[in-house]
Amino acid sequence: MKRKFNLSSPKERKEYFQLKAGKEIKKLKDYFKKGNSFIVYLLGKKNSGKGTYSKLFAEAVGPDKVEHFSIGDMIRVVDEELKDKKRRKEFVAFLEKSYRGSLSVKEIIKLLEQRSTATPLLPTELILLLTKREVSKKKKKTLFIDGFPRGLDQMNFTLFFRDLIDHREDEDLFVLIDVPDKVIDERIKYRRVCPSCQTSRNIKLLPTSKVEYNLKKKEFYLVCDNPDCSGRKMLPKEGDQRGIGPIKQRLKKDEELIRQAYSLYGIPKVLLRNSIPASVAKQYVDDYEITPEYYYVWDEKKKKVVTKEKPWIVVDNEGHPSYSLLAAPVALAMIKQIAKVLNII
Ligand SMILES: [Zn+2]
Repeated sequence: MKRKFNLSSPKERKEYFQLKAGKEIKKLKDYFKKGNSFIVYLLGKKNSGKGTYSKLFAEAVGPDKVEHFSIGDMIRVVDEELKDKKRRKEFVAFLEKSYRGSLSVKEIIKLLEQRSTATPLLPTELILLLTKREVSKKKKKTLFIDGFPRGLDQMNFTLFFRDLIDHREDEDLFVLIDVPDKVIDERIKYRRVCPSCQTSRNIKLLPTSKVEYNLKKKEFYLVCDNPDCSGRKMLPKEGDQRGIGPIKQRLKKDEELIRQAYSLYGIPKVLLRNSIPASVAKQYVDDYEITPEYYYVWDEKKKKVVTKEKPWIVVDNEGHPSYSLLAAPVALAMIKQIAKVLNII
């Protein structure tokens, strides 16, 4: 009989990766042991799971060798630097010494401080400079760059990126992630966040182990089960009920970016698909690799909530009823394909 894995358990996930890609994982580990590293540009729509897939990749082949490098997080650190008097001074000195471009240092600081998600992107030469500064602080690692390129005008810089950040011997490649809009929509719509520790889950797709029921309102809700948290009722974020509505333009731009990356010559590409048409799913994936939909029933006798699951069917962007894969099988596909494009398998 075929073995089933519980992919939310780190232990079983490890066994799953070993069974399905043991050879590739060993080759990648050897590759790192010899001092090699590479650069990945992650391209996927907002909320497509870029961070999750990179973390699972790292978990499987060496967490100390691989880093998810988010440009957004890097800029948030700069925001912190600017708020601290001493670090602000150092940052300004760094810009005065190293920045070359069409803005004055004053203008850059102003741009950083008055930035909101609605304002235009930061200048590319600034992003590159800050990335180089950040990367030089770390030991040489394999980087999964998340957030660059952001616009079509940044695409060509990608081709020289490794030279610009002094990783010139590294192989580099694109990882392009294809996720149906409907999946992103429901990830947002049913998201629940803990007001205390900010843990994010999903009442339909990724519940906690504790679900409770409000008899008066006839409403089920998640309770945070982070062991370091006091266990608060998790709440929807403002605006989440509108799903992808407010970010439609952004998703369209992300899609154009992926299409352009796909058409570039000379740089290897790895394609990941989050979904699989239900009609062919049986041939390619096992039931435990598919994202279920959770629903809840109130057991009046026992006075407790029973969590149940059923297959979750979403319509993909081509109109096919599809299943959405869990993160581990997508990460597995990434491990196999990366080993292949690096020519180590
Ligand atoms: Zn919490």
